[in-house]
Amino acid sequence: MRLSKRMSSLRPAILSATLADIARMKAVGKTVINLGIGESDFDTPQHIKDAAIRAIAAGHTKYTPVEGVPELRRAIIDKFERENGLTFEIGEVMASCGGKHNIYNFFQAVLNPGDEVIVPAPYWPSFLDMVALSDGVPVIVPCPMAVGYKLTPALLDAHLTPRTRVVVLNSPSNPSGAVYGRDELDALAQVLDRHPEIWILSDDMYEHIALEDFRFVNILNVRPDYRERTIVCNGVSKAYAMTGWRIGYSAAPAKLTAAMANLQSQNTSNPAAVSQYAAIAALDGGLDAIRPMTDAFRQRHRYLLDNLVGTCGIANLRAKGAFYVFADVGAAIDRMYAQGRIAAPTDLAFCTYLLSEGGVAVVPGSVFGIDRHMRLSFAASQEKLAQATQAIQRVCA
Ligand code: PLP
Repeated sequence: MRLSKRMSSLRPAILSATLADIARMKAVGKTVINLGIGESDFDTPQHIKDAAIRAIAAGHTKYTPVEGVPELRRAIIDKFERENGLTFEIGEVMASCGGKHNIYNFFQAVLNPGDEVIVPAPYWPSFLDMVALSDGVPVIVPCPMAVGYKLTPALLDAHLTPRTRVVVLNSPSNPSGAVYGRDELDALAQVLDRHPEIWILSDDMYEHIALEDFRFVNILNVRPDYRERTIVCNGVSKAYAMTGWRIGYSAAPAKLTAAMANLQSQNTSNPAAVSQYAAIAALDGGLDAIRPMTDAFRQRHRYLLDNLVGTCGIANLRAKGAFYVFADVGAAIDRMYAQGRIAAPTDLAFCTYLLSEGGVAVVPGSVFGIDRHMRLSFAASQEKLAQATQAIQRVCA
């Protein structure tokens, strides 16, 4: 079968291989604790579901404006005003079919063949594929544990070229949980001041999954004068346990938003009408409904730090946000490889061993661009985390 050349820009998915392994193990009756997925284990709060049911009853089941119904765009504007102190006009905000879709629309709208996009590693892997599908070139900037897994002004400066068109900032980060502070963003902006042609993509998807008390800021809070060169992307998926509803949203200059809407009109059209009404209830309902979930994430994070990190050569820089522990397993890998227990001195071999011997599925750090690590999601019940911790301790001892 002849497929387009574009398809070859998509990298083979390691995660699909892991999912196939999990399915095989389950088929022969083995128990697998899956800490690989980036999806909240909580149910969508009831008032949000009720709003969707009411929307169906009221007949909101038809096409809507491509960018979302005016009530949703208004709820997005209010959210930015209330939670972020940012004021946007209706023409600057739009909704898409999930956070990923907003980001994809953005890359499609601004990249020409060969344009470079700075992607700090560890990164959410989809950035690379979305850039490649948009004919761009991802420029991976390794940001190791020593720099807190965060882009520094020096690293940024060293990777800029005349072809750089976008810098990606994702805070709190999937997978590291690192959060950029005001001073760090300001320091990055001082480099970007010299390159006004570069866009900044601020992916704030995990804004509300705060594992510590900190005041969330994005680049526009620090540099309001960056409005004409920044897109803020966010969504209801992670904060409101709404991954399946597929609503993301963005705020950007009106001209860019119009271009993204034009593009969206030719692929998906509007995001699902019913989901839009659910998202309105989520955003307008405020943050009280999500507090029990963030409290649980904080407890689970604490549990893993207390019980897993520090044992068997597993080191970690505390996450500040999101629901992942990004652990340095280099020492465990070296020891287990020297003992002949894993086939190669890699995090892939290590994670494959954890799955086959311990029944615990986690994601190798190399999937996120930093080798000798594993990402462990704690969007799983305390009981599962306790079982997984015991299993990891047992097989890595
Ligand atoms: N940004 C980051 C950093 C993510 O981890 C994800 C999902 O995993 C998204 C954006 C997109 O979220 P969704 O498309 O599920 O709304």
